[in-house]
This record gives sequence, structure tokens and C-alpha cells, in this order.
Amino acid sequence: MGRVYNFSAGPAVLPEEVLREAADEMMDYRGCGMSVMEMSHRSKVYDDIIKTAEADLRSLLGIPDDYEVMFLQGGASQQFAMIPMNLMKNKVADYIVTGQWAKKAYQEAQIYGKANKIASSEDKTFSYIPDCSDLPISPDADYVYICENNTIYGTKFKKLPNTKGKTLVSDVSSCFLSEPMDVTKYGVVYGGVQKNIGPAGVVIVIMKKELITEDVLPGTPTMLKYKTHADAQSLYNTPPAYGIYICGKVFKWIQKIGGLEAMKKHNEEKAKILYDFLDESSLFKGTVVKEDRSLMNVPFVTGSEELDAKFVKESKAAGLENLKGHRSVGGMRASIYNAMPIEGVKALVEFMKKFETENK
Ligand SMILES: *Cc1c(COP(=O)(O)O)cnc(C)c1O
Repeated sequence: MGRVYNFSAGPAVLPEEVLREAADEMMDYRGCGMSVMEMSHRSKVYDDIIKTAEADLRSLLGIPDDYEVMFLQGGASQQFAMIPMNLMKNKVADYIVTGQWAKKAYQEAQIYGKANKIASSEDKTFSYIPDCSDLPISPDADYVYICENNTIYGTKFKKLPNTKGKTLVSDVSSCFLSEPMDVTKYGVVYGGVQKNIGPAGVVIVIMKKELITEDVLPGTPTMLKYKTHADAQSLYNTPPAYGIYICGKVFKWIQKIGGLEAMKKHNEEKAKILYDFLDESSLFKGTVVKEDRSLMNVPFVTGSEELDAKFVKESKAAGLENLKGHRSVGGMRASIYNAMPIEGVKALVEFMKKFETENK
């Protein structure tokens, strides 16, 4: 088997165990004589798959009963519109802009109402998280929006903003299930699963039930109302059935490892190896303020575009794939999501040490 260490930011590495199990079940899912890809989403067998996935996610995150869990399509980007369409009752919302994804969400919201940029870290190429302890929250804001882990820039909110009582909406696409989180601090938590949980095509939305109403902006399509999907328990139309099945397997895999506390420990251990090296290296340098470093996405540079390109090329040849930074920032980025084994991070650091010696 020619598996590489895949540092892609997304779609990204999945646990080998999960892929093997899916392969075993490909032709005949547990004696039903067909693949999960081929079965009716209205069948008893599939109903069991989606219900078990939801129950396992609820138990992993400790999601209380007054929160809905929805498995939707359209990617995280569709949520940039769905959120204002469904939640902007006063047509006002406050956005904290800490990277490209938050910025896109902020721009999309402007189509539907008054979106205020109440804080930003764009002045220093999004290399830090602004102080959000006392922001000018709009008195009539329907919600305050953040992107909790900034996939491209490698920053993470270590402390949630003080929303002064307003509903907090958070895009957790690239830190979903990487550590425990207290869902009750949010009105909405959502994420595309292709970063840390499953194949592209599924977005999971966890939303306080009282926010899900018929009172949405005029013209909101049926498919873009949360109420449609909540009422039908994510089976209003054909859901991304196979993707949800894989997500369910990843939930079981995290449970087996010991849940989110164990996941966090594992992720901290991996990130430490890489950050410790970056801090002592004479060639490579991390690009993010230390306190705000992400456990999942680690951008770094050599300071020379030529050397960066050489590094990306040679690392690929060494079986370390997808280390090129986002096209908007250049340099390198190692995404070390849940399923990246510690051996992968060690192999990366060994390679970086060798490269450093050869290119001094
Ligand atoms: C990848 C990503 C998105 C976009 O996801 P799509 O599913 O491609 O729309 C949005 N937000 C964050 C934080 C991401 O990492």
C-alpha cells in the first residue's frame, strides 16, 4: 500500500481504520447485499445509520436536547448565506473578521442586511486573534459571527468573544471535534466535514432549537430554511447519505480513542512537536502569534520563496504531500487534523531538519 502522509487542509486525511472498514462494507453492507451508496435513504438500514451518527455526535460533544443537529449539503460556504437568511430578523449582524473564510461570510451577509465588521486582524495578514473582550457589539445585532479556527492563516480563538448576550455563531470547519467544546455557549456551531470528519459534501449544523423558526427573510428557498431540515430530521430530501455514513464511522473512531479529551491530548502532542521545532529552527519560522496558534493548521516559511518552492517539491518526493501554503499566502502549511498520526508529524520534522542542514 502506497499511503503517504497527507497534510492537505481539506479534503483531508481520514483514519485508515475507517477507510478499511468502509472498503470491507463496500459491496455488501452488513448482509443487505448492497453498498450504502446504493440504498434508499428511507430504508430501515439507512435510518439506523443516520440516527446512530447523530446519537454518537451528541454524546461526543455533549449536545443538549434543546439543540438540533442537522446534516446538510452545500458546504460551509452555503452557511454564509443560510445564517443571515434565517437569523437576521433585525437585519443587523456583527462579524469578527480573522481570515478569508470569515471575510467571505461577512461579505455574503451584506447581501441580506447590515453586516458590521466589529474587529479584524487583516492589518497583520490575519496572523493573530484580536482582543474580543469588549467589542462595540451592536445593540440590535441578531448575532455575532466568528470563524473559530482559521484554516488558511493558522490561528484559533482560545477564548470566545464577549458577545454581550448576543447569539454566537461559529464556523468550526477546521477544528470540529479536535477538542471538547461547550455547545451551550453558542447559538449555532457549524462546519463542513471535509477537514476533520469525513468526505466533502456534508456540513453539520448544531443549532439552538429556539432559533429555528418560520420567521426567515422573505424569499428564502425551502431548502435553505433550517426549519425544513430540522422538521424532517435531515431527511427532507436525499441527504449526502454515503458521506454521513463515513462521518458516523469517524465518530465511532473518536469514541474508541477515548473521546474528545483524548483527541485533544493527541492533537496537542502532535502540534507541540512541530511548533517546538519551528521555535528553534534557524531556517523555518511560524507565521502566527504564539498565543493564537491553531492545533490543526500550521503555516510556516523559510523567508525565501525559492527555498519554499524547493521544500514543497522535495517534501512531496519524500512522501509528505500537500505542504504548499494556501494560494493567497504562499509559504507552507501543514494541516495536522485528528487523523494525522504522530508518526506523520515526526516524519515531517525529521525532513525539515534534514532540509535545514542541506540548505543553510
Ligand atoms: C474549508 C472551509 C470553508 C469552506 O468550506 P466549503 O465546504 O468548501 O464551502 C469555510 N470555513 C472554513 C473555516 C473552512 O476551513
